[in-house]
Amino acid sequence: MNVGQPLYIVMLGAPGAGKGTQARLLSEALGLPQVSSGDIFRENLKNQTPLGLLAKQYMDAGGLVPDDVTINMVMDRLGRPDCARGVILDGFPRTLAQADALDQALQSRGQRIGVAPLLEVADEAVIARLAGRRVCRECQAMYNIDSSPSQVEGKCDKCGGELYRRADDDPETVRNRLFVYYKQTAPLIGYYYAHRLLVPLSGDRPVEVVQADLRAAVDAAASAQVH
Ligand code: AMP
Repeated sequence: MNVGQPLYIVMLGAPGAGKGTQARLLSEALGLPQVSSGDIFRENLKNQTPLGLLAKQYMDAGGLVPDDVTINMVMDRLGRPDCARGVILDGFPRTLAQADALDQALQSRGQRIGVAPLLEVADEAVIARLAGRRVCRECQAMYNIDSSPSQVEGKCDKCGGELYRRADDDPETVRNRLFVYYKQTAPLIGYYYAHRLLVPLSGDRPVEVVQADLRAAVDAAASAQVH
């Protein structure tokens, strides 16, 4: 793929819609880093940093970490050399203030977002998916005990790491995460639609089928940037 400008891809969708899974595959295919704000918070928590301990208070309840903290953290990550060709943002932005901060930061460098794919999945499916989700402690690979289990129960197929259930995947917290999504994050759909960047995709299909559509949307955005 010929990308003249850095390609910024913003993955949108409710918790459990498949953003992480799809972003990871896309990252492997395009060789662009996946920048997941949730993963960065969890990594900080694992290392017991002040940022991790602060984020935990919000994450445990299924709420959002304050904008200023989140924006600084992601901007810092975007400034690293591996992001020079572009990134796949997964879980950021999650509020209009974050989207605005991202746009301004890119604008100041003469850059802009290339595409904002939206993974659409019904709420009931999201709740069921998250109830069965398991994540590798080491490499963050994702499994589902119902639809895509690991070969050996509790062990990652890729690295042998321990699989665990995220604390915020319990049904009570998931309901709050969905509530927060509709209230604070869903307005981004209108925002990116207005900027002609939104590409809605049905996320309720096999992973590789969604990935193929996503690749087509990204390729179209990349060639639009070049021409
Ligand atoms: P995720 O792994 O994307 O589901 O994120 C897990 C949790 O991290 C969320 O429920 C929030 O508490 C926090 N978080 C992740 N990304 C953001 C963000 N962009 N803004 C605020 N909080 C976030």
